Amino acid sequence: MEPHKKVKEIIRLLKREYPASKTALNYGSVFELLTATMLSAQTTDVHVNRVTEKLFKKYRSIGDYASAPIEALQNDIGSINFYKTKAKNIKNCAVLIMERYGSQVPKTMAELVELPGVARKTANIILSTAYGINEGIAVDTHVKRLAYRLGLSRHEDPVKIEKDLIGITPKKDWGNISHLLISHGRKTCQAKKPKHKDCVLFALCPSNSI
Ligand code: SF4
Repeated sequence: MEPHKKVKEIIRLLKREYPASKTALNYGSVFELLTATMLSAQTTDVHVNRVTEKLFKKYRSIGDYASAPIEALQNDIGSINFYKTKAKNIKNCAVLIMERYGSQVPKTMAELVELPGVARKTANIILSTAYGINEGIAVDTHVKRLAYRLGLSRHEDPVKIEKDLIGITPKKDWGNISHLLISHGRKTCQAKKPKHKDCVLFALCPSNSI
């Protein structure tokens, strides 16, 4: 099947399977989404939600993160992978956003990727989830695995995978496709032992017998 048609069909089938697909991270503001997304690198969303439940009660504004002693912030996220680096990035992000953007998380890719610890994946999540702006496609470990298995990209590098997906996905679905592939990766197409026989994409998938 021609790649554009195949992606459309994948999106159609996955939307039926996951009609409420969205980020699994809990947040109440754009900065909280940014914080949760930064914390989620190499950590499960369930773990992040457990940590942010307390964190977001303690730190109520960007100013609270900017003025927090770094040791306290490290301590508050101490059960998360790479907590020292993540605490430093969150604090420095808060300082920069206050100083440069009047405490509003910026709305462009160019500005977002200038923030400490923010790469394209996080920027894409902020733009599509918080602002409804489709400027790219967030590629995490699930998107990477499924794009490969489904024959949508042969690349390993997330930036190249994103480029491949952008080339064949309707722009209106750039935000959706990440959430849908992540939901499917969690429920059916896991890294180990994918459940081919339960998969709605079985007939479309070149990897349905791996
Ligand atoms: S058929 Fe198997 S490999 Fe392909 S998307 Fe479904 S679960 Fe993943």
